[in-house]
Amino acid sequence: MVIFFFFFFFFFINKIQYILKFEHSLFPLQHQQKMTIAAETLNSGNVIGNIQFNYFYVVVGFEILNFLFLQYLYQRQLKCYKGKERPSELKDVITEEEFKKSQEYGYTRLVFKIFTSNLMFYIEMILYYIGFIPYLWDLSGQILGRFGYYNNEYLQSIGLFSISIIISTLQDIPFSLYSTFVIEQKFGFNKMTIGLFIKDKIMSLVLVNVIGSPVIVALLYIMNWAGDLLWFYVWIFLLAFAFLAITLYPTLIQPLFNTYSPVEGELQEAIFDLAKKVQFPATKMFIVNESKRSSHSNAYFYGFFKNKRIVLYDTLVKNFEKEEILAVLAHEMGHYRLNHVLKSFILSQFHILFIFYSFGFFIKNTKMYRDFGFSSQPIFIGLMLFQGLLKPVDSLVSFLLNCNSRKHEYEADTFAVNFGYDTPDHLIKLYVKDSGSLIVDPLYSAYHNSHPTLLERMANIKKQAAIAKKSKSD
Ligand SMILES: [Zn+2]
Repeated sequence: MVIFFFFFFFFFINKIQYILKFEHSLFPLQHQQKMTIAAETLNSGNVIGNIQFNYFYVVVGFEILNFLFLQYLYQRQLKCYKGKERPSELKDVITEEEFKKSQEYGYTRLVFKIFTSNLMFYIEMILYYIGFIPYLWDLSGQILGRFGYYNNEYLQSIGLFSISIIISTLQDIPFSLYSTFVIEQKFGFNKMTIGLFIKDKIMSLVLVNVIGSPVIVALLYIMNWAGDLLWFYVWIFLLAFAFLAITLYPTLIQPLFNTYSPVEGELQEAIFDLAKKVQFPATKMFIVNESKRSSHSNAYFYGFFKNKRIVLYDTLVKNFEKEEILAVLAHEMGHYRLNHVLKSFILSQFHILFIFYSFGFFIKNTKMYRDFGFSSQPIFIGLMLFQGLLKPVDSLVSFLLNCNSRKHEYEADTFAVNFGYDTPDHLIKLYVKDSGSLIVDPLYSAYHNSHPTLLERMANIKKQAAIAKKSKSD
């Protein structure tokens, strides 16, 4: 994922993303374009007050610890890409050449990630030191002042939000360009044109502003009004927004980036049969033209209740045999039948509740604002600063969510085995074609990976196939 963005940007947009992207894909996405906006936190402030318990130092301390921890994980994973032999379980299924390509691809991407994370960390530290966020906050107020809007907290918050999105988008462009047109290009995965790249960036920028601004105003309004029950009302609002977003995302937003067409022909027939067998509502299946961006293949299951759908990349449909596509679909339908998206969604609701419940204790904490160089206490700023304090909790949560997601992947694979798709051939093909990482460090994987490795999934499928066979013969 793209590495950096401002703190508030992270907070709001990642939460919006979080709400929007309730999907389970078959394969860990190697890289994401479009609206995938992820973040390392970044915020700043002036050092005011004494050292004994200064929020500024606490947040900076968390940032440094987090940075060191990530660097440690990167170094561990880096070793997995160098000088490793092809695992014996893979000797029959992938060639030495394919193995080398996947190792080199993983290595190149990780080195680039280490470079960008280091660069952004140092910039972040400088911005902390010079008090960049108080500066942007004032700048937003000054710009609004020119139009006659003085001391309007809502408008000033949106101003800050917009300025930061523009800056972070501009910052991201060189890294994004390098990743797409140098790394992906070199390994033969890039299909993106410069024109499409620019169009995607502009559309994301506009959408984030259009969606983010009213959400921020509503949130700030609720927080100003709700008093002690802030956490409850904010949660209700975000829940309502989540349901709205889950409905609108596939119908209004995704079509701006891609074309979704129904599955047709011979394949459709076979899919309908499978859908009937596993009780999946077969009308909600689409093929998306991702081949205009990259040659990576994937499939995912999205949403719940009335908005559920399975989406196949056109690259997958083109390059895979019918039986392989059905195996992929059986896995995705497994996510549906086992309610995986709904379960992840409920987990995320606890996280949101926790964030706003604990924020209630900090919203009026004058010292927190002062430690970062603010003389007033705008709620928007409070949320940003508070998110910095939550950094260790966020790390823990992302670890738990990934554990949960890996568990779901095993379960969906097992589901497919129980419907007769008891070989990992389709997965092997997918990992090989995409040069997916084959050797992973356990700690790096536990923290970062939403999917088990190919070897782990192969072992699970083999085990489950044996169990299924035994129960049949009994
Ligand atoms: Zn899956």
